[in-house]
Amino acid sequence: MPADKIKILDARLANQIAAGEVVERPASVVKEALENSLDAGATRIDIDIDAGGSKLIRVRDNGSGIQAEDLSLALARHATSKITSIDDLEAVATLGFRGEALASIASVARLSLTSNSVESPSEGLCATSEGRDMAVSIKPAPHPRGTSLEVRDLFYNTPARRKFLRTEKTEFGHIEEVIKRQALSRPEVSFQLRHNGRSVHHWVAATDERGVAQRVMGVCGQPFMEQAVPIERVAGDLSLRGWVGLPTFSRSQADLQYFFVNGRVIRDKLISHAIKQAYRDVLFHGRHPTFVLFLELDPARVDVNVHPTKHEVRFRDGREIHGFIFSTLNRALAAVRPEISAEDSNGVPDSDPAGASGSNPWQGSLGIATPTVQDGAHSAAQASALERLYASPVSGGGMGSDYGAVAAANGLSDGHRNTPAIEEAGTQDIPPLGFALAQVHGVFILAQNAVGMVLVDMHAAHERITYERLKQMRDDAGIRRQPLLVPQSIAVSSREVAAASELQQVLQELGLVVDAAGEEQLVIREIPIALSGGDVETMVRDVLSDLVAYGSSDRLAAHMDELLSTMACHGSVRANRRLTVPEMNALLRAMEVTERSGQCNHGRPTWVQLTMAELDKLFLRGQ
Ligand code: ADP
Ligand code: MG
Repeated sequence: MPADKIKILDARLANQIAAGEVVERPASVVKEALENSLDAGATRIDIDIDAGGSKLIRVRDNGSGIQAEDLSLALARHATSKITSIDDLEAVATLGFRGEALASIASVARLSLTSNSVESPSEGLCATSEGRDMAVSIKPAPHPRGTSLEVRDLFYNTPARRKFLRTEKTEFGHIEEVIKRQALSRPEVSFQLRHNGRSVHHWVAATDERGVAQRVMGVCGQPFMEQAVPIERVAGDLSLRGWVGLPTFSRSQADLQYFFVNGRVIRDKLISHAIKQAYRDVLFHGRHPTFVLFLELDPARVDVNVHPTKHEVRFRDGREIHGFIFSTLNRALAAVRPEISAEDSNGVPDSDPAGASGSNPWQGSLGIATPTVQDGAHSAAQASALERLYASPVSGGGMGSDYGAVAAANGLSDGHRNTPAIEEAGTQDIPPLGFALAQVHGVFILAQNAVGMVLVDMHAAHERITYERLKQMRDDAGIRRQPLLVPQSIAVSSREVAAASELQQVLQELGLVVDAAGEEQLVIREIPIALSGGDVETMVRDVLSDLVAYGSSDRLAAHMDELLSTMACHGSVRANRRLTVPEMNALLRAMEVTERSGQCNHGRPTWVQLTMAELDKLFLRGQ
């Protein structure tokens, strides 16, 4: 077969091929248009959509506009005002730089670009392109300073593409998502979105921190802001700001996750991994964390020219970035524990800090982004209380006497009075979770604090405390063990006996001393102090079956935390165990000083607060 003759593609065809990568659906057009408007310094962007964007997309901005002599070039392929050399690309500060968006869109739709770079509206010009060579024609069209891009009948000449369009509603959903991302990244710009003539969103420009928080709330919803922890960390030229949802505000879909690198929204494996890792210990299985995060760094450290849609980036030093994100979020999440006021956690500042207004509210210090991160170290008094909680000798009744000891050490109450000292204590002396009043059905602790009542899931809370305690001991001096008064033998499989003998070392790290006592029998001799009083046999059985499942000590090493979590579950106070008031108070105090104590090891909440106002509302008081 003779080879076909080689010929140069005509301009339209070449552009259509490029469009294949850049213009997937109406939302892609909106994305490119918004990027151009933002690159032009617009402070106001109005978007009109008809029929999910397949009929009309109009994006109008008040940016710099395009000078008359440049207008025809704007529609040409490989024409950009944003970079001139490969060095520029090394540290590109604009969202666009490829110079092919408008040309690509023009090749698969009816596009007109109207612009004016001067103050007098009569000097506006409108550019369109036609034919195989995409020749540009320009005619006068009044337009205030700024630019309007109009794209009609997307894919009218590429039926194969048009077939891939989904319903109007779906396509509009994608457009909305694209706009949300830009609206989050640029709160100082106002955005207005209309669909089929009806206003859908109107986000006003933020001028201060409160405005920024309001923008995030407008885009992500009030529940997110109410249940998110503000993040702000700067280290060298790296900075990470924004909000992460509490583990209890997780979602079944990964649909409330926004990560910006230098203002560009991206999806990146490295970053997802770092975030997932930070939530590992606190998220319910199969749930997705929520976050709006802004990473800023020297543009030279990140390559944005990886993919035509610029959704992906490549970091020059991925490890450092990973570590920075992980440690920042990990610390913030570890600090999620009961605090004095349940109401002040949403990061919306009460007043406008003076001098906070600027062209970009993200820059400068963000008072709202003060993380509730506290240092891992507990105060000396708290530490010693915890110490006592776990260090007292095993007693038949399990933790009972331990709690009593702690309560006495803390001077909380005399242990026999049913009414705690809340009336006598000044408001500032009442601890965040208050004082215990009673146990409800052997499952919950009812307590009273400064703002109302608190309910605590006793098992869930104790489980988290035990787990954190075990991890901390392992990292410090090793998990402390104590011998059982009467060694306990258990019948197991021969494989488990073999695994136990082989992995003695691992077991000891976990605080367990277990010896073979026959072909299918083991003797439990020592267990972690922190687990005294728990269900020893079940705990060891679970650990053994994990040992057998993981097999090698390598794989076990990677799952040590999970093993400790399993152990904590069995070593923790079970439902229907009666606790005295001092025991309950000791548990509340332990929660207050334990990292991540807002959720149990499986990510479920450990406590809820009902404020007096909420209680009044329940009873229709004062209405
Ligand atoms: P790129 O954004 O990669 O430079 P585009 O094809 O998106 O390429 O745009 C080509 C050029 O047209 C831009 O470099 C810019 O100079 C100009 N332009 C496009 N849209 C606008 C706008 N809304 N305001 C000002 N200039 C614009
Ligand atoms: Mg562009």
